[in-house]
Amino acid sequence: MVVGSGIAGLAAAQALADHFDLVLILERDAEPLDGQPRPGVPQGRHPHLLLCGGMNALSTLFPGLVQDLHAAGAVPLDVGRDLQLELPEVGALPRRELGLATFSMTRPLLEQALRRRVTHRGNVEIRYRTRVIGILNAPSDGRVTGVHYQEGLGRYGMTGADLVVDASGWASPTLDWLETNGMTLRQTVVGVDIGYSSAVFAPPTAPDADFVGAATFADAPGSSRSGYVLQAENGSWQVLLVGRGDDRPPTDPRQFIAYAQGLLTPTIADFLARVGPPPHVSCFAFPKSVWRHFRGATRLPRGLLPIGDAICRFNPVYGQGMSVAAQEAVLLRDLLERQAGSADPLATLTDQFLAGAERFIETPWAVSTLPDFVYPQTKGERPARLEEELQQQAALRRQALVDPDACRLLSEVHHLLKPLQALRTAGLVAA
Ligand SMILES: Cc1cc2nc3c(=O)[nH]c(=O)nc-3n(C[C@H](O)[C@H](O)[C@H](O)COP(=O)(O)OP(=O)(O)OC[C@H]3O[C@@H](n4cnc5c(N)ncnc54)[C@H](O)[C@@H]3O)c2cc1C
Repeated sequence: MVVGSGIAGLAAAQALADHFDLVLILERDAEPLDGQPRPGVPQGRHPHLLLCGGMNALSTLFPGLVQDLHAAGAVPLDVGRDLQLELPEVGALPRRELGLATFSMTRPLLEQALRRRVTHRGNVEIRYRTRVIGILNAPSDGRVTGVHYQEGLGRYGMTGADLVVDASGWASPTLDWLETNGMTLRQTVVGVDIGYSSAVFAPPTAPDADFVGAATFADAPGSSRSGYVLQAENGSWQVLLVGRGDDRPPTDPRQFIAYAQGLLTPTIADFLARVGPPPHVSCFAFPKSVWRHFRGATRLPRGLLPIGDAICRFNPVYGQGMSVAAQEAVLLRDLLERQAGSADPLATLTDQFLAGAERFIETPWAVSTLPDFVYPQTKGERPARLEEELQQQAALRRQALVDPDACRLLSEVHHLLKPLQALRTAGLVAA
């Protein structure tokens, strides 16, 4: 059983389908219209970059996905050649073909592609308008036996399962279970207080741009304004403005353009000047990044396994969440394969999975939280050696300006193809 049909839920279902007779996904939303955002994933209205590490993980899980995305109109993206990255102090990094590939597309398109693949499996079923409201466990030994759910606003029901994967984003079923069973959970929280405003430009708007995407990063700590523009399927473009604290990006279309004029470079404002005011602006508030440490003092019952945002919600500015969820699903598949022949394959599954997931999370967590702490108003425990780490990152950016190898390695780490450790081994960051 999988709770939730977001990226983590769909990828997990694909991993499970080789090993279980039936995989049932319970989703609180109604069945979505193809390519449309849906209420259970409000962030889906905003640009979602799939990093190369996530693309690789999804292609491993879903053979044929690359062809599906091509056919659906997703835009191929070589992140070195097609993305213009503009950073404080160094300006625009030189664009170089790095052979690091992904696609640029909307989040609903990616979900649609995964959903089609998953539902073509004979043993996967998605049940919509079904909200999980509790996890059931055997009184004798505590093992998970299924879930308690509600259909829409109506009927309640229970259904059995050997394994419940919590891909609900907020992890409410798992957190409720812990609370009911008197367990406390250790969490690392970084308060970032970020505001998102984004707009979609559909054809016939056809801007003249020599990139597939551009990102202008904030000149911290003086300014918190960042901007992003990304091409998506079928000739559409997405523009995103981000700010912190009181400097929230506006939802009024004309103020949207004015806000973009305060970015580090004119790239996004020039783009908006060419396409005109957006027809509609969507907003989203992201107060904090949260890493839930389900290992340690807490012991999840046998048969309960959180995945994706249920374990860790990253500051979305670095575009990591979907990719980490996909990599975790590959880990789940590998563990299931390894344990398939054992007498009791589920006995240690959750423990091993959480240990492996922690290793995946370390790099994206460090990559995103270190720059957060440049802002004095960021809340949370400041990492030891913060100043030193920040200075090293600044030095790396300067080196990437002139050194293609440094540029590649930085991209590989940011795209979750290599761990942060790779920079240390290469001597680019002090060990
Ligand atoms: C503004 C914003 C921008 C982002 N941009 C990026 C980006 O550029 N790149 C990137 O990789 N990531 C990005 N992310 C992160 C990304 O959205 C998530 O990390 C990713 O979707 C993985 O989430 P998930 O599948 O674990 O959870 P979600 O996507 O939140 O999906 C959870 C699913 O569970 C369902 N559900 C919840 N509770 C229940 C229940 N009790 N019963 C049944 N169903 C339930 C929901 O309806 C939903 O379908 C962004 C996030 C935000 C907030």
